[in-house]
Amino acid sequence: MIYSNATILTLDDDRRIISDGALRVLGRDIDAVGKTAELSIAFPEDDVIDCRGGIMLPGLIDTHVHTSQCLLRGVSEASGPGDFHTWLFGRIFPLQGAYTHQDALASASLCVLEMLKSGTTGFVECLLADHYGLDAIAQMCLDSGIRAALGNLVMDVSPEARDDAGWPPSMWQDRQSGIAGTIDGHQRWTDPHGRLQIWFGSRSVEPINNISLFPEVASLAREHGIGITIHLAELPFDNEYARSLGHRSHIALADHLGLLGPRTVLAHCTIADDDDIALLSATGTTVAHCPANNSATGWGPARVTEMLDAGVNVALGCDGAPTNANMDLLRDLRVTAHVARMRQHSRAAISPETILEMATRNGAKALGLDSRIGSLEPGKAADFIVIDTDSPHLQPMWNPVAAVVFAAQGSDVDTVVIDGTLVMHHREMQTMDEAALVANARRSQADVARRCGINDLGSAWQVI
Ligand SMILES: [Zn+2]
Repeated sequence: MIYSNATILTLDDDRRIISDGALRVLGRDIDAVGKTAELSIAFPEDDVIDCRGGIMLPGLIDTHVHTSQCLLRGVSEASGPGDFHTWLFGRIFPLQGAYTHQDALASASLCVLEMLKSGTTGFVECLLADHYGLDAIAQMCLDSGIRAALGNLVMDVSPEARDDAGWPPSMWQDRQSGIAGTIDGHQRWTDPHGRLQIWFGSRSVEPINNISLFPEVASLAREHGIGITIHLAELPFDNEYARSLGHRSHIALADHLGLLGPRTVLAHCTIADDDDIALLSATGTTVAHCPANNSATGWGPARVTEMLDAGVNVALGCDGAPTNANMDLLRDLRVTAHVARMRQHSRAAISPETILEMATRNGAKALGLDSRIGSLEPGKAADFIVIDTDSPHLQPMWNPVAAVVFAAQGSDVDTVVIDGTLVMHHREMQTMDEAALVANARRSQADVARRCGINDLGSAWQVI
C-alpha cells in the first residue's frame, strides 16, 4: 500500500521534510519513503491512499496517561474551589474507588479512542489498579490497534496508614499482589512487535508507602526487563520527605532506591534542580513533561529546556482528564511552547522542531521502541498519522512543523496507521465502535456517581 501526496515530516536523523511525498507500507513496516512520482513508478501495482496534500508525521507518543480518569473528565473544574487534597481525596479517589471492571474498561476505551482520534499512536498508562481489571484493558488496547505500556499498580501501605488515609477500601492493594500481578501480566501480555508491554506503575515515593517496596521493584524490573513509571519530584513536600530521610532531593532518593534508568519514565519532575537534572541525564531516565496538567493545577512548570540542554530524554504527557480535560496531545504541543516561553520570557526558549521531537522520537525512546518507531524511514514500523490541512485554521502555511505544533488540532487528524494497520481513515475508526464507546462512558459516569453518592459536581452557576 502506498500513502501518497503528503508533506512528510520524516523525523529521521537528518530531519528531512519531503514535499509531495509518499510512503510505502509492506506488512507491518515502512518499505520506502520518497517522492510520490518516484514511488508510483517503482510500484505501479500497489494500491494507493491519497493523502490529499496533508502532513504525514510519526504517530505521537503520550508518556503519562491515567486511562481510568477519562470518566472524570473536568471533575477538577466541577469541584469548586479547594486545595489539591480536597479535590483528590474528596472527589477523585471516591469516584475511582466506586469503579467496577466495566467502568474502568469504559473509561480506558474512551481514553484510547480519544487518543487515536487525535493522533496518539502509543502511550504509557501510569497507575492501573487491580480493581480496574488488567486483562480486559490489555485486550482492548490490542484490539484498538494502539501501542501501550500499561503500568500495573504497585504499592505498600500498612493497614494502620490505610485507616488514617480515608481512601475507599477498593483503592488499596497488597504489595505482593501488585508485584506478582505485574510480572504475571508481563509474561502473559508482552507483544513481540512492541504493541503491548506491562510495566510497574508504582505509587510515588511518599511517606505513606513502605520505602522497602522500591528497591524490590527496581531489582525485579531489571531482572525481568520490565519498565517502571512513577510520579516523582512533583511538589515541594516531595523534597522535604527525601531530606527527612537524609537525601538531597526526591530525585536523589529515587536514584538511591535504584529507580532511575533508561527503562524508567518519571512523571513531572517539576522541582528538579541542576544536580537532579544531571542525575536524570547520567542515568538515561525519561521525564514525562505534562505542561497542560501542571498549568491547570497551578503547580508550575518543569525546567524543560535545561533538561533538554543537559541531554535528558524529555517526552510529553497529557496526564489525567480531571485536570487536563482532553487527551489531545497535539494541543499540548503548543502548551509546551507557551509554558516554556512564558517561564523564560523568551520566544527562543524552545522551537517547534524540538517539541515535535519530544512527542515522537523521545516518546519512542521512553517506550524502549526507538529502533522501531519515532521516525519515518525504511525498516521501521509503519506508525504514522496524516493531518488534513484544508481547514481555515491551517491555511495558508509557511512552515509545516510550526503548523503541526501551533495550529493543528486533534480533530484535524485524518488518517492513523499503526504497525502497518489502517486504524482510522477520513476520521472513521476502523477498529473501535465510537458511538457505542461514548454511550458506555456516559452510562458508567452515571452509575459511578450514583454508586458513590457524589451528586454536587457541576458549575458554580445555578442550573434551572
Ligand atoms: Zn499523573
